[in-house]
Amino acid sequence: MRTKEGLWRLSPSGLYGFRECPACFWVDNHYRRAPMLPLLLNSAMDEILKSRYDSYRLKGTFPPEASRLIKEKIKVFEDLDLLNNWRENMAPLRVINEKWGYVFQGKIDDVLMEDDGRLIPADYKSSGNPPKEDKQKYYRDQLAGYGFMFRKAGHKVSDRAYLLHYFPKDKSNPEIKIEFEGLVDRVDIGSIDMEKTLSDIVELLNEPFLGYNSDCEKCGYYSGRENWVKPL
Ligand SMILES: [Zn+2]
Repeated sequence: MRTKEGLWRLSPSGLYGFRECPACFWVDNHYRRAPMLPLLLNSAMDEILKSRYDSYRLKGTFPPEASRLIKEKIKVFEDLDLLNNWRENMAPLRVINEKWGYVFQGKIDDVLMEDDGRLIPADYKSSGNPPKEDKQKYYRDQLAGYGFMFRKAGHKVSDRAYLLHYFPKDKSNPEIKIEFEGLVDRVDIGSIDMEKTLSDIVELLNEPFLGYNSDCEKCGYYSGRENWVKPL
């Protein structure tokens, strides 16, 4: 989607779609879609996890299920006011590139820290199941995107980031009090050239539609429905 000024509005969490299917990504950015139902349970989990990490943050540590972070020599990011500013507002970490024609912005879940103060982006992922092996390839760009925004805002950034996965421990347990399992997942973001990823995206969006992708299930639903969507 474009801003009033004609810049492509891109976000770290939206990069997933670009990797998954460039055709769907093009359509999603050029046409107004039916609004998605908000994933309220997912947002509720994010809020719960923020409170959980914050309560341990005040004690200078991480929740027990994330103790692997301590083993990996990760420090707690203690400035909760600054973190909350990044969680709630897009302006402090917004990257505007008028030459390429995009604005890149988004909210972050959490931040961790290296010994030397470099920032480590972190994102909570709650799901019904343990993460599959190939999950990282979709989220690497998202985490690298936060790293890019931090760097542009003048912060030093680590070459690693973390996904903090949560999923029900035992789905056959009939208790309403669901126990969640946590999994700390390190992701290498040092090799990602975010500047290039973003310019590749803008190039794709500035091209006419390249056609539906026969390997993509979602494309199968869209093709032939061109008249259903109105150009912006
Ligand atoms: Zn597709």
